[in-house]
Amino acid sequence: MIEVRNLCKRYGDKNAVNDISFSVGKGEILGFLGPNGAGKSTTMNMLTGYISSTSGHISINGVDILENPIEAKANIGYLPEIPPLYVDMTVDAYLNFMYDLKKCKLTRKAHLKEICDLCKISHVRERLIRNLSKGYKQRVGLAQALINNPPVLILDEPTVGLDPSQIIEIRSLIKKLGKNHTVILSSHILPEIQAVCDRIIIINKGVIAADGTAAEIANKLTNEHKMTVRIEGTTRTTEDKPVVAEALRAIDGIKYVRADMEREKGIYDYDIESDDEVDVRRAINNLCREKGWNILMLQLSDMTLEDIFMKITTGDITAIKSDEKKPDLSEYDMSFGSDNVAEEKTPAEAEESPEEAAEAEKKKEDSPKKKDKKSKKGGNK
Ligand code: ADP
Repeated sequence: MIEVRNLCKRYGDKNAVNDISFSVGKGEILGFLGPNGAGKSTTMNMLTGYISSTSGHISINGVDILENPIEAKANIGYLPEIPPLYVDMTVDAYLNFMYDLKKCKLTRKAHLKEICDLCKISHVRERLIRNLSKGYKQRVGLAQALINNPPVLILDEPTVGLDPSQIIEIRSLIKKLGKNHTVILSSHILPEIQAVCDRIIIINKGVIAADGTAAEIANKLTNEHKMTVRIEGTTRTTEDKPVVAEALRAIDGIKYVRADMEREKGIYDYDIESDDEVDVRRAINNLCREKGWNILMLQLSDMTLEDIFMKITTGDITAIKSDEKKPDLSEYDMSFGSDNVAEEKTPAEAEESPEEAAEAEKKKEDSPKKKDKKSKKGGNK
């Protein structure tokens, strides 16, 4: 659906994007992850034809964006980081305007209704965009991207500035859209990428540093898999420990076995490292079945997306593995977990609460669950 070959963008002496190539298949949700300044927006702007490349090729749905920009762009719905909204228009007038601008041939009324329902903005269609909360503005931005049903959606930091409940809503909407569209999503928020995307491209200093699923990237970065298996042996005594460990060591691909502590009476954990090409889990399972042993737990301890990101962008993996010595992440403006998200919540809520509350009042269609949430928030203040 999207083909990018040897794409470069120079600003003066600076290579903002330096010879990147990738392709995205139909129905894939691809996450573009990287620290600020990595080149994500520049790449997206080139993909959408918003800026030209210095060199390289981009084709969207088989159409070259430089040779045939109008046709190529007709295949793309784009939500830039700052949604392109005319705030003095009502939502309805704006969407109709975008419908005309895109020369959409689908049945106007039904198409706009479908999009508004999907983006949950049907009840604010008659309101001025300037009076909407940030979350609703973002949904209107997404709605305009969906007009004319483009096969490709490009979303630049779609959840930036939203409060946690809005973030969850937009993420689930993106997942839903991924069923019928090819989606490229940029974010500096690791959990977001992990929650929404099938595949990740990590971009760093203008080049692709990694491409694949989180698990595939982790596999490439480490030479070994690590896991812990809890095995119940025949005798359920200390005698099992060397017997089980020895049998595990004999499995092809297992490089290292260490019998760990007794976790349950007479039952031990075994820390295992294996070659990266070999998935030894089935062999362990077969061994236990043959011997009449039971696997009570198997836990992979491969790298998390955070580990991967840190390894790629700083070259330092050990620091984040250690609790005492976490590197300063502020440089990357990364939102690693719920704590960070919660911190963003207060100002956004303070700004948006009255309006959100008014919207909830106006429309009884809000689910009781959502209302509960709102009243809880109010109670916390
Ligand atoms: P990201 O979206 O990953 O935060 P950008 O694509 O915005 O990164 O920027 C990549 C690099 O290109 C940065 O170093 C940025 O300063 C530079 N850059 C982006 N746009 C321009 C521009 N119009 N002029 C000069 N430099 C730019």
